[in-house]
Amino acid sequence: MGIIEKLRLDGKKTFVTGGARGIGFSIGSALAEAGADVAIVDMDEAQAKSAAETIARQTGRKAIAIRADVTKKADVDAMTAAVLSAFGRIDAAFCNAGICMNIPAEEMSLEDWEKVIRINLTGVFLSAQAAGKVMIKQGGGSIITTASMSAHIVNVPQPQCSYNASKAGVIQLTKSLAVEWALKNVRVNSISPGYIGTDLTLSSPTLKPLIEKWNAMAPLKRLGKPEELQAIAVYLAGDASAFTTGSDFVIDGAFTCI
Ligand code: NDP
Repeated sequence: MGIIEKLRLDGKKTFVTGGARGIGFSIGSALAEAGADVAIVDMDEAQAKSAAETIARQTGRKAIAIRADVTKKADVDAMTAAVLSAFGRIDAAFCNAGICMNIPAEEMSLEDWEKVIRINLTGVFLSAQAAGKVMIKQGGGSIITTASMSAHIVNVPQPQCSYNASKAGVIQLTKSLAVEWALKNVRVNSISPGYIGTDLTLSSPTLKPLIEKWNAMAPLKRLGKPEELQAIAVYLAGDASAFTTGSDFVIDGAFTCI
C-alpha cells in the first residue's frame, strides 16, 4: 500500500472531545475529509450538533453529536457507549477538550486550580481510558491527546501555572499510556500546538490583548490556524503512523525554539 493510501481513513471510526469548535472542530473535519466517521463530543449539545451537521454536509461522511462533560466518568462512559452503538468500534480517539485560566499563582483559588486540572488532565485521562478499554478489546487503535507548547515553556506575560502544569501532565500521561498499551496495539501520542487562533485565544478578554505581544516574540510573527494542525491529526489517526507511539508533536511555528 502506498503512503497516500495509508494516510486515508476510509472506514475508520473516531471521536473528538471538545469537537464543537476551534482545534477539535478542525480535527473532526479533517478526519471526515480523509474518510472517517466522526463523533463530535462536547459540553454544548447545540453547538456539537451544528458542527456534526456541517461536517456531514461538507464531507458526506457520518458525523454524530454527543453531549458529554469529560470530567464526569458517567458522561464519558455513556459517550463511549453511544459511539460504539452508532459506529461499532473506535479506531481513533482525540482527547482534546481543554480550557485555560490566567490567574496569578498567589491569587489562585483551589477551585480554579482544580477546574483546570480536572478538565485538561483528568478529562484526558478518562477519555483515553474509556477509548483504550475499547481498543484493547478490539485489538488496537490510536489515541491522540492535545497537549500544548505550554507543557514545554512558561508562556509570558500571562500567568497560567495550572494550564502549564496540566499540559505537562498530559504529555507524561500520553507517554505512560503508550508504554502500557504498546503490546496491545494501542498507540498514544500528543500534539502540542503553539498559539492558535480559536475562541480560547481570540475571544478571551485576558488573552486577546496579548496577541500582538506573542506575535512579536514568534519567529513566524503570527498565530497558527486550526487547519494547520489537520495533517498531523490525520497522520496520527491512521495506519501511516503504525510505528509512532509515545511521541509529542510540537506544532508551534518554532515558538519554543527561542
Ligand atoms: P476552544 O475553547 O475553542 O474549544 C474548546 C472546546 O472544548 C469547546 O467546544 C468547549 O465546549 C469544549 N470543552 C470545554 N470543557 C469541556 C468539558 N469539560 N467537556 C467537554 N468539552 C469541553 O479551544 P481550542 O480549540 O483553542 O483548544 C482545544 C485544545 O487545544 C485545548 O485542550 C487547548 O488547551 C489546546 N490548545 C489550544 C491552543 C490555542 O492557542 N488555542 C494552544 C495549545 C493547545 P464549550 O463550548 O461548552 O465550552
